[in-house]
Amino acid sequence: MNENEQPGAGGAALAEAVRAAMPMAGALLEDLAQRTGGPKGITRTPWGDGEQYGHDLMAKAAEGMGLQCARDAAGNLYMTLPGRDPKAPAWLIGSHVDSVPNGGNFDGAAGVIAGLAAIAALQALSIVPARDVTVMAIRAEEAGSWFSGAHGGHLGSRMALGLLEVSELDTAIRTDSGQSLRTHLLAAGCDPERIGKGRALLDPAGVHAYLELHIEQGPVLEQRGLPVGVVTSIRGNSRLRDPRCLGEYNHGGATPQSFRRDAVIATSELVLAIDGKWRELESAGHDLIFTVGKVSTDPKLHSLSKVPGEVTFTLDIRSGDPEVLATMRAFVEAAAADIARRRGVRFELGGFSISVPTVLDARLRQRLVAGADALGLPAMEMASGGGHDAQEFMRAGIASAMIFVRNANGSHVANEGMTLDDLAAGVRLIAWMLAHE
Ligand SMILES: [Zn+2]
Repeated sequence: MNENEQPGAGGAALAEAVRAAMPMAGALLEDLAQRTGGPKGITRTPWGDGEQYGHDLMAKAAEGMGLQCARDAAGNLYMTLPGRDPKAPAWLIGSHVDSVPNGGNFDGAAGVIAGLAAIAALQALSIVPARDVTVMAIRAEEAGSWFSGAHGGHLGSRMALGLLEVSELDTAIRTDSGQSLRTHLLAAGCDPERIGKGRALLDPAGVHAYLELHIEQGPVLEQRGLPVGVVTSIRGNSRLRDPRCLGEYNHGGATPQSFRRDAVIATSELVLAIDGKWRELESAGHDLIFTVGKVSTDPKLHSLSKVPGEVTFTLDIRSGDPEVLATMRAFVEAAAADIARRRGVRFELGGFSISVPTVLDARLRQRLVAGADALGLPAMEMASGGGHDAQEFMRAGIASAMIFVRNANGSHVANEGMTLDDLAAGVRLIAWMLAHE
């Protein structure tokens, strides 16, 4: 037992307290679905009506629980349960309330509601955590689906952490309204003058760690029959946006196979070589996926009976491990050079665009795995395919971790399929973390 451990934080009592808190969580999710849903799905527009309704609903629930509510200049909402030591850096349990257009009810909001439910469970057990616990309802995580001209999504967390370029206030245009980010901030009662690079609204030194619960956006937990996952990293990517393979057009009836410089066969060989390398790395336990989403011959020049002289294609490689991405980039370049030499073609790959993966905090990951074990929750460690606010917190130097909750049907769809029982498993894990450090 460590010094912060308190009676009542053990498995059975905690499970019962979380079970008692879940009707509140269910009612909040139902209220959100009723008020921000339509026939095609859920729409909670950043700094628009739906997101604002969500923030107001969360604040009302938090006030009912006796939490202290505060807002920053970006409109992010902070709901705080005071801990035993008000000077100790606080836990931040964060997620977003906005959605993509016609998305689902759980992507984002489930994480905020899970934070409130975890606090309700601690309150029911009369556990006062060692440090303040702040549930943060973050603005505009899905900004990439709403704004053009922003340097990526995650606007609310980037504003809170002082990571937003000031120019984005005017270059980011919400595509449904045609209005700038600045205009929307002002309309929502926020203060764009206080927002920008280096102007953090949240002091990282005051944060012990950031923890985010999110529905899994793929089918892995569903297929493995596990309620929760502990996220290892948020995948980065290496992409070839418009590579070409150049061979030689020839008469398809008259040119013997050995004389051909066939761009389709050469490109196919490259794709299969990448597939083989994926198999090798995956079976060695590495995180890796890749997509060749476009493959084309030129409709103006190709024909059924002509040896194809040119292929354009794309390549998107993703991994949570920067070394795996580097290995794959080197492999693709070497394989292309080898195939080109043997087949008399030329690959113009054009250079990879690179987005660096975010490896989440190792100590927190281990704590989550230990917590799941202590609670008897079957869990697995897994990478996140989608981006999340947690990567911005890591970027700002705040130790961050994520819990995934099993979810059928994927995310950003109207029929996201998380159950309240699975959410309760994630809430138990959050409450365990809060009670134990
Ligand atoms: Zn999300």
